Amino acid sequence: QIVYVNGEFVPAAEAKVSVFDRGFLMADAVYEVTSVVGGKLLAFDGHIERLQRSLSELEMASPVTMDELLQIHRDLIAKNNLEEGGIYLQVTRGAPDARDFAWPDPAEVPSGIVLFTFEKPLIDSAIMDAGIKVMSIADERWGRRDIKTTQLLYPSFAKMQAKKQGCQDAWLVEDGYVTEGTANNAYIVKDGVIITRELSTDILHGITRAAILRFAIEAQMKVEERLFTIEEAQNADEAFVTSATGFAQPVIEIDGAQIGTGVPGDISKRLREIYTEEMIKAAI
Ligand code: PLP
Repeated sequence: QIVYVNGEFVPAAEAKVSVFDRGFLMADAVYEVTSVVGGKLLAFDGHIERLQRSLSELEMASPVTMDELLQIHRDLIAKNNLEEGGIYLQVTRGAPDARDFAWPDPAEVPSGIVLFTFEKPLIDSAIMDAGIKVMSIADERWGRRDIKTTQLLYPSFAKMQAKKQGCQDAWLVEDGYVTEGTANNAYIVKDGVIITRELSTDILHGITRAAILRFAIEAQMKVEERLFTIEEAQNADEAFVTSATGFAQPVIEIDGAQIGTGVPGDISKRLREIYTEEMIKAAI
């Protein structure tokens, strides 16, 4: 596998980053994951815009321009013959000489960048047709979840708790309301209305979420952006999650309670179809 690290394309086994890298020591880094289908990027512009926002919220500079980033993504796809899967991109604040909580001067310590590809079946994935089971757990992440940082220990912990309970994912709950999944945005459907939490610093502003809501409205479906509880979700007709590599994925069980008839719902399935078709059409 060929990866990109700080200006160079190298075999993964030869790629090196400093032990002083603040991404490694302090999770002082932001990331993006962009899906690839048929060798082309899905929703690239959205991911790059969010990357720029994450960087600016943390006063971090990008070591390459956004145009260069598109070329690096394309070169990596070509070098790895990637047909279907994704590209992981991480910008870190760089590697100062010593470990210090204060950020280094960006003029002295350049930020670092790493990208790599991964293969993953995105279109015909059996789990997506079957739906997933989720478990609820307290949301104990930091308060700026709108910034896509590499502080992923708590979501990782939550996912492990879910797996121990025989679930595929966890829905995080704060002050009685669902925030989002460990790595996806959460939705319920009741009487034909698609309900999802409104955007704020409490959740990641999903690129897939934006597209799904746009497609839903274009298809004359009703959308409500508001808070909902686990209890309301358990009594919904359908539930689903969205993410760049999961598209729209039906949820069939929450904390042991079957959702609707216990099989993927029609609206969830329809949204997945529209999303897949439209995003592949618009891939670059
Ligand atoms: N919420 C969280 C916490 C995530 O980590 C992710 C994706 O990784 C999402 C939502 C979905 O975002 P996107 O649709 O941009 O992949």
